[in-house]
Amino acid sequence: MRWPVSPELVLELAGQRVDSVSRRGKYILLGTAGGTVIFHLGMSGNLRVVGSDAIPAKHDHVDILFDNGCILRFNDPRRFGCVLWTTDNPLEHRLLASLGPEPLSAEFHDRLLYQQSRGRTLAVKAFIMDSHIVVGVGNIYANEALFRAGIRPLRAAGNISASRYQNLSRVIREVLEEAITQGGTTLRDFVGSDGRPGYFRQQLAVYGRGGQPCQSCGQSLLEVRLGQRATVYCRGCQT
Ligand SMILES: [Zn+2]
Repeated sequence: MRWPVSPELVLELAGQRVDSVSRRGKYILLGTAGGTVIFHLGMSGNLRVVGSDAIPAKHDHVDILFDNGCILRFNDPRRFGCVLWTTDNPLEHRLLASLGPEPLSAEFHDRLLYQQSRGRTLAVKAFIMDSHIVVGVGNIYANEALFRAGIRPLRAAGNISASRYQNLSRVIREVLEEAITQGGTTLRDFVGSDGRPGYFRQQLAVYGRGGQPCQSCGQSLLEVRLGQRATVYCRGCQT
């Protein structure tokens, strides 16, 4: 995988009880009295609870066996994920310490994007997708939020006013909350923990709609690549 499984994990996790399950950015944390397991699912990883008789298959990398006979199984075909162990505060782990705030927390206040963007020349879309600025704003949600805020994705981050950033912060929260309510945005074979797809895709105003008419003004939506990611916007509504 991305990094080797921590050798201490096998020794020190054994016999512990999972006291908490939490998340920071894209990291999933299993807390025990002795330390914390840190999972990252990478591009294609998944965690499943299976019975102790489930034979490991290709790309199953780690099993955590519980007393009740269940196995928490980590599978990752593309192997960009990781399974690490720390006995320190996991939020201060080198991978987590420099992450920006959670977008639905009070730390993501309305002036943060403005303050962090001064002097920055990179595109605002890349800026809001940078997990060191704010976590959780993936490509689909960045496209949608910039459309709702009326901001052109390629505009330099440092050239956007405080009031526009205030509005953008609000719509980022709005888009994420709507997507969570609807179980996320199923694109391929990704499904929720209940095995059902997310339905936010049906509400997308720009993502996946390059060349189609803007729902607001009717102009044809433009699709470009920005940092390898599909970027769709309306030249009429976004400036
Ligand atoms: Zn438009």
